[in-house]
Amino acid sequence: MIREELVFVATCDISGLVRGKGFPARELPARLRKGVGWTGSNLMMSPFGPIWDTPFGTAGDFMIVPDPAVEVRVDFDDGSAVEHFFIGDICNTDGAPWECCPRDFLRRAATQLEEAVGLKLVAAFEQEFLYTGVSDRPGDAYALGAFRRGSTFGETFTAALRAAGVVPDTFLAEYGPRQFEVTVMPQPALTAADHAVITREMARATAHRLGQRVIFSPKPDPELVGNGVHIHMSLVDAVGRPATHGPGEPMELSKPAQHFFAGVLHHMPAICAITAPSPVSYLRLTPNAWAPTVIDLVRQDRGATLRICPTFAAATSAEVTRQFHVEFRAADAAASPYLTLGAVIFAGVDGIRHGLDLPKAGAPEHLPHSLPEALDRLAASKTVASWFGQTHFDAYMRFKRIEAEKVADLSPAELCARYAEVY
Ligand code: GLU
Ligand code: MG
Repeated sequence: MIREELVFVATCDISGLVRGKGFPARELPARLRKGVGWTGSNLMMSPFGPIWDTPFGTAGDFMIVPDPAVEVRVDFDDGSAVEHFFIGDICNTDGAPWECCPRDFLRRAATQLEEAVGLKLVAAFEQEFLYTGVSDRPGDAYALGAFRRGSTFGETFTAALRAAGVVPDTFLAEYGPRQFEVTVMPQPALTAADHAVITREMARATAHRLGQRVIFSPKPDPELVGNGVHIHMSLVDAVGRPATHGPGEPMELSKPAQHFFAGVLHHMPAICAITAPSPVSYLRLTPNAWAPTVIDLVRQDRGATLRICPTFAAATSAEVTRQFHVEFRAADAAASPYLTLGAVIFAGVDGIRHGLDLPKAGAPEHLPHSLPEALDRLAASKTVASWFGQTHFDAYMRFKRIEAEKVADLSPAELCARYAEVY
C-alpha cells in the first residue's frame, strides 16, 4: 500500500497525557520553526475526553514548537508505521514560551536551582506498569517465569528505548500480577523528564504492536499493589561533581542537600496535588503497599516519601559519594513528569533559600488522604502559586477540582477501572 511517513509534535499535559498534532515528515524543516497550532484549553483536556471549564475557553492560539534535541524515530521493523515524534514547548505565536507550558515550568525550576546555589539536579525515573500480554499466575512476584513471559515485550521495549535515545537500566517483573518495572539512566532534570515521557510512550508503542496494552494507572485495582513513579535524584555542581553526600552530616546529606530535601518535605502537603494528582492516586498512597503514607525522609526504607538509597559495592568513599542519592516516591503516572519534577525542584530551591533544616525526630505529618484534601493544601500555598504564575495556577486548580468532582461518586473499584482505561 502507498504510504508517506508522518511526524507528531507533542506536549505532555496537565493529565500527564501526551497530545499534539501530526504532519508529513517532509514538512519537518518548516515545522521545526513554526511548530503545530495549539490552544490554551488543549492543555487541560480531561483524561476522559471532554474539555471542562477552563480559563481559556475557545479563545487563543499557541504553537507546540518541537525541540530538535528531543526527536524519537523508532522503526519497529514489523511493517507498522514508524514511531516518529518530537517533544516540544508550548509557545506564544511569537515564539516566546507560554506561561502555562509544563516543560517551561521545569526549565524555570532548574534555572532557579542553578541561580540559587550553582547546583544542578540529575534524575532517573523508575516506572511501574501492568502489561496485558501475560497471564496472571500466583507466586509470580519478581519471578523468572513472569519475566520470561514478559520478555518478548521486554526485549522489544528495550530496543525501542535505546533507539529512542533513552538508555535502559533495568527491566523486571514486579511484585503485582502482570506488573513490570523499567528504570533508565540518570540525566539532567529536563532530559530526565523527557525520557520519562518517552519511556511511557515506548512502552505503549511496543504493547500496541504486540496487540496489547500497558497500564500506568497509579492503582489499577483496589486490591492490588499500585504503580509508582519513583524519581531518583542527586545534586551535582557546575562541573558535574556529586554534591548530595555529606559524610558525618545529618542523614549523611551535604548542607545544600539537607536544605533542598527539607524544602521538599516542607512543601509536600501542597505539591502532593501535583505529584499524585488524580483521585485514584490516593488509593495508592495507603499502608502496606510499598508506597509512602507520611511525609518523611528515611534511610533505606521503601515506605518513605523520600528514601535515602543504599550504595552498592562502593569500595571507596569517592564511590559512595558518587552513588549517594535520594528517591522521591510520592509520584505516579497520572502526573506530568515536568510538573512533578519542577515542583520538587522549586520546593528544594525554597528550602535552600530559607536555609530550612531537616525535621527533628517525631511523628511525621500524614500525606493528604484524597485529591480534594491535597487540592485544599495546594490552594493554601501562596509559594507554590508563585512558581506557577497566576494563570497557570488557576488553570491547574480548576482542572483538578473538576476532575475530583466528576468521579466523586464512584466506588474504589469503579474509580480504578476508569483510570486504568485511560492510563
Ligand atoms: N509499587 C510500589 C509503589 O506503588 C513500589 C514498589 C517498589 O518499591 O518498587 O510505589
Ligand atoms: Mg518497583
